[in-house]
Amino acid sequence: MSSIPAPKKAFLDVAVSICPFCGTPYADASWYVIELGSDVECGVCGRTWNPKTYKVDRILLEFRLDEQGTVLDVKKDKRIA
Ligand SMILES: [Zn+2]
Repeated sequence: MSSIPAPKKAFLDVAVSICPFCGTPYADASWYVIELGSDVECGVCGRTWNPKTYKVDRILLEFRLDEQGTVLDVKKDKRIA
């Protein structure tokens, strides 16, 4: 008797922010922009700003993987503070 293994899961904590100078939206790893508080350079207007200050949302993405680690699909797991 064999059982079907449960799907493997990986997670990514993402912070969504908007450039205060030109309005371009960005999604970055939360450890980078929230935990480290790193500045980023906007790829559109070229100005530097701090996404932690302009964070508009933070969510956890859930990646469902097959046995080899290939991503099958991605879904929004939950909103984080
Ligand atoms: Zn910009």
